[in-house]
Amino acid sequence: SDVGSQRDRVVTEEEWLQKWEMGNIGFHKEQGHPLLQKYLDVLLNGRNGLRIFFPLCGKAVEMKWLADMGHSVVGVEVSEQAVKEFFSEHSLPYCEEPVPEISGAKMFQSTSGNISLYCCSIYDLSSSIVGKFDGVWDRGALVAVNPRDRERYASLMINLVEKNSSYLLVTVSYDPNKHKGPPFYVPESEIKSLFG
Ligand code: SAH
Repeated sequence: SDVGSQRDRVVTEEEWLQKWEMGNIGFHKEQGHPLLQKYLDVLLNGRNGLRIFFPLCGKAVEMKWLADMGHSVVGVEVSEQAVKEFFSEHSLPYCEEPVPEISGAKMFQSTSGNISLYCCSIYDLSSSIVGKFDGVWDRGALVAVNPRDRERYASLMINLVEKNSSYLLVTVSYDPNKHKGPPFYVPESEIKSLFG
């Protein structure tokens, strides 16, 4: 597949922080994503009390939604503003603590304990820090990662999931010559080679 000129495009962490500062967050969905509702059964597979991971989580409202269903949610997001907006927009009290293994990182946890958001780069995480997950909601995550970092991202994700986990991935299909991304176009063939 032709991925056009996207292969070499880089969006820096600083640019993401600026998007949050400017309120340039068209990706955020107030109402949650209809595809999570549609495929919720696939994610849960009849199981209760799962550990669910939200890579590049922003302030996705689905985190509150799944936590309210009794699951334990862990997210990672580079923007502290996004993390704080998540808790304040849902009126959730939280505490904030450093992450000893990652210099400069902070973990924000709801007082009830079932939502933990790491404020750092996803590439700083490992299963020894966050454990392994039963489910992943990957929306605006693989497609937001810089194309040259996809392999690193995918191998990390594979490392963060349990054997019997479910991974819901949302991608977008469009002509990559007409839009520079993000979201980037990730061809189906590439998804197969990344995740096997
Ligand atoms: N998944 C969310 C947000 C998608 S936008 C949603 O569905 O609404 C991508 C998000 O990833 C942005 O909030 C950006 O700040 C964050 N981000 C970008 N690079 C990151 C990285 N390396 N580690 C953690 N977060 C990152």
